[in-house]
Amino acid sequence: MKLKKYSSIEILEFLSSVNSAPYYENETSNLIIKLLKETNISFIKDDFGNIIANHKPDQINNNISPIAFIAHMDHPGFEATSYNENNELEASPLGGVPISSLISKTPILIRSTYGNWIKGKIRPVDNYLNNKKVYIDLENKQTINLPAPVVFDLKKFSIKNNNICMRAIDDLAGCASILSALLQIAETKISANMIAVFTRAEEVGLIGARLMCENKTLPINTTVISVESSPLIPGVFQGEGPIIRIGDRQTTFNYEAEEILTKALKNLQSQKPNFKAQRKLMDGGTCEGTAFNLAGYKTTGIAFPLKNYHNASNGINDTKSKIVEESIFINDYLGGIELIKESVIVNYQNNDNQNSIKLEAVDQKTKEKLIHSNK
Ligand SMILES: [Zn+2]
Repeated sequence: MKLKKYSSIEILEFLSSVNSAPYYENETSNLIIKLLKETNISFIKDDFGNIIANHKPDQINNNISPIAFIAHMDHPGFEATSYNENNELEASPLGGVPISSLISKTPILIRSTYGNWIKGKIRPVDNYLNNKKVYIDLENKQTINLPAPVVFDLKKFSIKNNNICMRAIDDLAGCASILSALLQIAETKISANMIAVFTRAEEVGLIGARLMCENKTLPINTTVISVESSPLIPGVFQGEGPIIRIGDRQTTFNYEAEEILTKALKNLQSQKPNFKAQRKLMDGGTCEGTAFNLAGYKTTGIAFPLKNYHNASNGINDTKSKIVEESIFINDYLGGIELIKESVIVNYQNNDNQNSIKLEAVDQKTKEKLIHSNK
């Protein structure tokens, strides 16, 4: 069967065409499954709705430990939960939404009883920090079946100069980059094993990833690479390439896992000398890498340098932040896909559990020098 070809940008635009919030990832999940089915890539959906896809040619050497790339399908939003005694619709944040969105009349979309998304606005409640809720006023009044997801009403996808702007770059860029790499690897029939994982409810505490760890869904010898967009911090720049993420806000990652990325980067740079990448501990947020890291998997990460993290123009805690689209550079996104593909090949070809970071034994002369100068 001839597979339909999609460009990496088309896949990202495709995923951006629907809305998702923590616990409400079904529209995104359906698109991912549609692409996997169309391209004949085998996958399972676990009991919690995480999707685990696998490119594994028949002739593959099963002794080689697998490599998995993880991204999450949700993005911070709200959940409308109840009508109060005045028939006002109440909603609570799901994940790290900007504080400014709680105290201004922020335009939103809410999923109606009929499944379409309708326009409305947030109306602040008194004492919003303690109440942790907002009111939702609909443009055209109607009763909503509860609970219902709410997302910011922002442009879903646009390209301006070198920037991709989206309501939910985090983590659709992760999902789309993994999918693109997976599809290209399957298309070119590369003889290597690649696992692609799309999880749920990351923004409310890494829930999908934690359940996968608890259930040991991936074999424990799997190298796990979290693929995320991470807020800009000093020392990283948009346009300087994807970031090899050596840790997040909570944990530092594994050097052997990182070495796969480093070798892949070296290979890419030997083919294209101006291929760019950065290396940094991205502590602007916690990513799913921490869940797998703590569960004993060899873990590291790839991050796209992200502007307007979680839709806040000046950070989610700044009360003056505007609610805007997130953005990444096109070349960082495309570079990330190259890095994922090359890492799959490196993992398969150099899978000898030998790390190349070695320190020689200290020679006798030097040893004696230390001993004597210590007297
Ligand atoms: Zn994220």
